[in-house]
Amino acid sequence: MTTRSETQTTLDHLLTEIEHRNPAQPEFHQAAHEVLETLAPVVAARPEYAEPGLIERLVEPERQVMFRVPWQDDQGRVRVNRGFRVEFNSALGPYKGGLRFHPSVNLGVIKFLGFEQIFKNALTGLGIGGGKGGSDFDPHGRSDAEVMRFCQAFMTELYRHIGEHTDVPAGDIGVGGREIGYLFGQYRRITNRWEAGVLTGKGQGWGGSLIRPEATGYGNVLFAAAMLRERGEDLQGQTAVVSGSGNVAIYTIEKLTALGANAVTCSDSSGYVVDEKGIDLDLLKQIKEVERGRVDAYAERRGASARFVPGGRVWEVPADLALPSATQNELDENDAATLIRNGVKAVSEGANMPTTPEAVHLLQQAGVAFGPGKAANAGGVAVSALEMAQNHARTSWTAARVEEELADIMTSIHTTCHETAERYGTPGDYVTGANIAGFERVADAMLAQGVI
Ligand code: GLU
Repeated sequence: MTTRSETQTTLDHLLTEIEHRNPAQPEFHQAAHEVLETLAPVVAARPEYAEPGLIERLVEPERQVMFRVPWQDDQGRVRVNRGFRVEFNSALGPYKGGLRFHPSVNLGVIKFLGFEQIFKNALTGLGIGGGKGGSDFDPHGRSDAEVMRFCQAFMTELYRHIGEHTDVPAGDIGVGGREIGYLFGQYRRITNRWEAGVLTGKGQGWGGSLIRPEATGYGNVLFAAAMLRERGEDLQGQTAVVSGSGNVAIYTIEKLTALGANAVTCSDSSGYVVDEKGIDLDLLKQIKEVERGRVDAYAERRGASARFVPGGRVWEVPADLALPSATQNELDENDAATLIRNGVKAVSEGANMPTTPEAVHLLQQAGVAFGPGKAANAGGVAVSALEMAQNHARTSWTAARVEEELADIMTSIHTTCHETAERYGTPGDYVTGANIAGFERVADAMLAQGVI
């Protein structure tokens, strides 16, 4: 029987090897560390997981595609971006995960997101493997016609790698309903197939699921509520700080408000807005979804209750709850210390890996309930899998049915993480619970399917 510390030493060696084999991919190293640092108890307890090559296979993508995306801007100038699709693990189902269009995208970023996605998708209990893709294309300031030409160029290569039984992309930062529409159109034109299940996040009326746009934010609020319930509290009357102003942030604010909390902030890369009366969602949606503008316009139009803080971080606003919903590493050690000083009770991640490892550690040490993204934000991909189910059956469900299924899935993810953490001697540690529970499901499927 190997001890936990012997197992940890083996995992640490593997982590060093991962760093050497994947140079200049700090986000991927961070995501691998975060998972492998919590697996020693389960690998030590269940010898089959120590089988040589199992974890080595898990950290190596099954396939990685990188390609040139040439397109013409409105002036007729040729632009060249880089496209990615990392097909990480398909033991549980077709690769599933979003596409991110953002200038910060590179292979390491897509690998971190794809790696997270394996465990997140496993936690949903549904039949989806893990993958991620995207481009360093920046949609900000681009006309609709430019975005369309870019999406068509991107799909002209991507189409040969995806399919409803192979790999099913969706949205992420910079990819919403508009982009999924252009991508789907080009896929349909090239393949001459009406293959609804090849992409999720589609529009209503042509295969999209009701509640998919809302699902990540709604799910995260349900996860936060479940963590609070564990402590004998609920959302009623709690003040919440939310970062970001995209799809995840907007529907996080919507659900918080519906459940009686007061969501007082939103942000973008220029700074944040604090609104003591609570964010007015109609105004925020108009600015972000219709005008595709910046959050300072919100403060200008909202009146006396709101102000814009240029360059600031929402974490300096005192609150009971924090829901980071923008991007990776947006909440660091200093931010965590500020939140703790201001009496935060729970932090629940709507974005992927928004909290740095040092900040997670500080929050957990201070007894703050911490919901890691791969559990807390799994509602988005879960409803994507429900969209695939509806497409397969050529039907569409009511919003009430999808919301009910989403609520059940989030409750079950919370219970799984909570119970798994208890079982492995770290009660209340949702990071360990999520990593081990996700790992067990994927590892069992990989072992059953042999060395491939
Ligand atoms: N991009 C989302 C995520 O991070 C959703 C992926 C999907 O719906 O496939 O989970």
